[in-house]
Amino acid sequence: MLSFDLRSLETKAVHVDGSISPDDPIWEEADPRPLEPIRVIGRLSSAGEGRFYFSGRIQGGVTLPCRLCLEEVHVDVDEEVHFLLAETGAEEADDPDVYLYDPNARNLDLRPSVRETWLLTAPAYVQCSEDCKGLCATCGTNLNETTCNCTPTTADSRWNALLKHQGDAH
Ligand SMILES: [Zn+2]
Ligand SMILES: [Zn+2]
Repeated sequence: MLSFDLRSLETKAVHVDGSISPDDPIWEEADPRPLEPIRVIGRLSSAGEGRFYFSGRIQGGVTLPCRLCLEEVHVDVDEEVHFLLAETGAEEADDPDVYLYDPNARNLDLRPSVRETWLLTAPAYVQCSEDCKGLCATCGTNLNETTCNCTPTTADSRWNALLKHQGDAH
């Protein structure tokens, strides 16, 4: 559960331990969604009138294709996060690090701010290993698994010609 009664929150901090499932309506079409629920643990407390402060961790994982060879890679995310929530119309409204909430609502829903934090925390791209050889640009063979017999690309032959030329000069 990531929704907290606003009035009681004003007087008493709460321990947060909840999750957002991958099919939660909070996610938008283009979001890098987690495969499993992401967990949110921490403390939510009043930070003055019309302000709340969250301090805790976000844990989860994403599976993304390697940017070079397109093999799926699982990445664990476990990040310490802190953010401020201010009521809509507050002076911090322009600050991108501050999330807004509706002061007229009964509950403070942490999901929108957790979602945005997740978007900043989860990697946008991954590489399966530091020395991933990627795919052959000509035939698409995964060069980590096997080799192919494609002729060198134009750029390579020009480079070879240059090397040969330099060799001739000596
Ligand atoms: Zn790769
Ligand atoms: Zn090839």
